[in-house]
Parts: sequence; structure tokens; C-alpha cells
Amino acid sequence: MGTDQIFTASVVITMNEAAPRATAVAVRADGTIAAVGDVDVCKKALPDATVVNLGDTALLPGFVESHSHPVLSGIMTQSPAYWIAPYVGYPKWSDVTDLFSKLQKEQPAGQLLLFNGLDRLLHGCEAPDAKALDAFFPDRPVVVADNSGHAVYLNTAAVKKLGWDAKPPADPVGGSFGRNADGSLNGIAYEIPAMMEAAMPLVGEVVKNPLASAAQWYSLMAGNGITSTSEMTFNDSLKPAFEAMAGIASCPLRISLYHVSTDATCGEKFESKIPASMLTKKGIKLWADGSPWVGNVALTFPYLDTPATKAAGIKPGTPGIEVMNYTREQLDVILDTYAPQGWQMAFHVNGDAALDVVLDAYEAALTKFNLLGTDHRWRIEHLGAARTDQFARAATLGVYASMGPVQFQYWGDLLDGQVFDHEHGAPWCRVKDATVAGLRPSYHNDGSVTPPSPLANIKTCVTRTTNSGVERGPEQKVTLDQALRAQTIDAAFILGRKHEIGSIEVGKFADFVQLSVDPYTVDPMDLSDGVSVLGTWLSGEKIDLLAFEKAAGVIDPKPHMHLATIPRKCC
Ligand SMILES: [Zn+2]
Repeated sequence: MGTDQIFTASVVITMNEAAPRATAVAVRADGTIAAVGDVDVCKKALPDATVVNLGDTALLPGFVESHSHPVLSGIMTQSPAYWIAPYVGYPKWSDVTDLFSKLQKEQPAGQLLLFNGLDRLLHGCEAPDAKALDAFFPDRPVVVADNSGHAVYLNTAAVKKLGWDAKPPADPVGGSFGRNADGSLNGIAYEIPAMMEAAMPLVGEVVKNPLASAAQWYSLMAGNGITSTSEMTFNDSLKPAFEAMAGIASCPLRISLYHVSTDATCGEKFESKIPASMLTKKGIKLWADGSPWVGNVALTFPYLDTPATKAAGIKPGTPGIEVMNYTREQLDVILDTYAPQGWQMAFHVNGDAALDVVLDAYEAALTKFNLLGTDHRWRIEHLGAARTDQFARAATLGVYASMGPVQFQYWGDLLDGQVFDHEHGAPWCRVKDATVAGLRPSYHNDGSVTPPSPLANIKTCVTRTTNSGVERGPEQKVTLDQALRAQTIDAAFILGRKHEIGSIEVGKFADFVQLSVDPYTVDPMDLSDGVSVLGTWLSGEKIDLLAFEKAAGVIDPKPHMHLATIPRKCC
């Protein structure tokens, strides 16, 4: 327990509509906010408090990311894995192959290497089979995971290490292996069951301390100003890792868990010695459809036949509800089971055709269980292709939205005219429509699909500019105030935590992010690069990321080694 403190800064942006701006915050020794206003008001509330002067900077409520996968993202992208996504320094395929050549020279002979983030659309490359990878890695085993989470690629040495050169495995249910004409494997494993068989034994050989990897991702989030997030792929195997991380004194994140519906125990109450303020379970998660970058989202409009879709292996035409992972009847069974238990539902749904099915299922269940008009706060996730009328319908059902706008920044140049026609590609991720409809959209980066950066999300939604600098779908621009709400108070709302986080208000936790400048004073195009995150606080304690990573690194990894063998489920 610390001491009473008063934080002063040139501006405190509270995200409390009733008193949006202040210059000081008083924080009790227990980590809750005692007063917000100026120094005099704060001194009256806490006369013996230590004053912490943050100078000419802006203090805001810590950013909240409403949809994330922090532990698995760390394992699959952070050291000792190599993150090769286009937006983390490898924009072109040649940048990736340059890294391949460098590591082949530098790394000890025979050492297995793990890469994650190959993006066929943005890298503009075809799926690399074993032969293609052998050109860079003729002898050492190598695993490359696709950014979509739908495929992994092995070179010949990795295929041999699995013993699959002598005896190729049969295709598992729900997955498949690419094969050469003679039946031997070509090195590509498609979908989770096949990816698991291919990657499980190999990833575990590289990642020797899953908690140390996860801690790097926590640090990445905190370094970008996030103080609270969710785990949208929770299952019981992850529980010890989340508890171990939350148990570290300098843990930078409060986590809300959403249990995957395929886990038999997903409806069970969450019991833990960790306080619910740091680790709590909120709901049930499922994937109604797939990824727009792979082509398995259920749409009412077609993918185009272009070089971009060809390279990505996306079939031209309109994938309908037959590509969904669930039938309407299967969704009904899940809702019938867990809705009466009071869980919040969170369904991944990108395509507009899939969203029609999800909203039909939600409406039926909400009606059946008398939940219409109550504060059930059911969620819909991503909503890339959602239509304006669907947001209005969701609002009448009391359903709220979590959306990934920075995906539009990265992929928007392709979406608008190369993947879809202009009519459907330009307004992709209609954040303004969702806001106007009253869905209080919160933003996410959905790590590791994109790196955690609330400020990048905010800039994208305020400017609607894509990587090329072109403005696309400008009618979907929102105000800076709306965008900031989406990463603070509205994200806290969808997580069911508005009473404790998301704004700087008396009684809430003193979770802060310190920014180098008042974001309201910068050019909207500079909202990401022109604003630095200087630090975060949780319950009034400044987060020390070095201490946190050090503490995570010395926890016995043995109880967590199984995590290094679970490939990331797509977004
Ligand atoms: Zn996700």
C-alpha cells in the first residue's frame, strides 16, 4: 500500500462528461481517486498527500482495450519468436526474406526458428511451401505462422523433425495438410487441428519460458498506454499463467476473461485468489465466421478477382453463410445453455451475412430469456463489413460493439478496390455509423493481428486515412472525443467495468496514462506519431516494466510450458 498522492499536470483529461478537464487528481493510499479538480481541491481532500508534478504533459485515464489475446500473442510474436508482420518493420516480402538470410547466417546451426506474421495480402507473397522455405533454410527446422491464424508453413527440415517425411500424417478433422503429387507433405498445414499437429512439438522447442514471452506483450501494451484489457481466447489451460502474471506486484494490466464456448467448463464460475479487480471472468466467446484476409467471412457482396486476392489465395465471389463456423441452430444451443446463466456473450463476426444470423440468434435468445430491455451488455466483435441498418438493429437489442479500426489503416488500401469494390471497401469498419446508432463502439487491436496501439486506432477513426495516406470512407470519421471514449470509458463499459475504470472520477481506480501532449492540440494526422506515451499507473502506482518483466522471467516456467504448444486461434 502506498501513500496519499496528488498528481498535477498541465491538463487532466478525465473522460467524465460532467467535468472533462482538470489540473490535479488526489489519489488515496488504497489506489482510488479521492478528488479531481485543481491542487487546492485535492489538498482539501488529502491534506497530507505527496504532490507528484507531471509537468507540461497530459494525464488521462489509462487506455482500455476491449478485445485482446495478451498471453498467446506474447508467446507467438515475442522473443525468442520473430515477429515478421508488415507493420512491425517488414512491409515487403523482401524485408522478410532479408531477415531469413541474416538469421540463417547468424544463428547456431540446427537451431529451430519460429516466425509469426506472414501476411499474404500485405506482403504480396504466395503461401511459402517447404521448397520455398528450403531456399533460405536448407538444413535448420523452421516454422512460419500466417498472420491470419489459419495456416503454418514448415520447411523440409521441420517436416523431417516431425518424422513426417517417412510417414505423412492423415488430415485431421477440421484441418488439412498440403500435399505434393506423390502424397508427400508440401509443408503447409491449414486450420487449427492440422496447425496444432504441425506446430505443437516445434514451438515448444523454441519457447522455453512462455511467461517471459507473455510479459513482453504485457509491456508492449502498457508501453502504448493500456492499463486494462481482455483475453478473448480464455480456456482453463491459460488460468495459471494469468494468475501468475496478475500476482506480480508491478503487473501493468487488469484483465477481463472471455471463455471460449468450445471449452466444456466455459459456463463455470471463475474462482481465484487473485482479486477480481486484476483478473475477472466476464463472458463467453465464439467465432461465428472467420477472417476477411483469408476469405472465410460470410458476406452479401463479392471478393473481387484481382492480383491481391489471387496472391492471398482468396476465391473470388460471395462467401455466404455456408462459410460460417456455426449454423444458426448451433448458435441457439450455445445461447440456450449460457444465456440463462447470466454470462455476457461476445461473438466474433466480420461479414454482414454472418451478422444477420448472429443478430437473429441474439434476438431470439434475448426474447426467450426475457433479457430484452435489461442491461445484458452482449457484444459483437470486429464487424468489418457490418451495414448501417445492422448497427441500428443491434442497438434495439441492447448489443454493443468492439471494433478494430487500425486494421482499416493497414489493409484499407487493398480493401478499397482490390479486395472489394469501392462501395463496400471504402467504408469498411463503419465506426461512425456504430457510434450514431448508440453502440458505444470500443476499439481494439486484437493482438497479435495488429500491434496494441490505442493512439493509432484513434488516429485512424478521426482521419480515415490508410497507410498510403489516402482518405477512404470519410463519412465514417468520428470526433477525437468519440475516439478517446472508445479507448477509455466506452471500452470500460463494454467490459462491464465502467464503475471502476475508464475515466478519472472520484471512487474509481487511479489508472492513468501520461501523454507528452494534449491530444486535442495536435494535428489529427499526428495523433499517433506526434503523441508519446510517457508512462502508466495502476491504482496510483507507477508501472515499472523492467521490474515486471524481470519478475515474470524468474517464475518457474514448468507449469506453463503447455502454453507454448497452442497455436493462436485467429483474431
Ligand atoms: Zn481476437
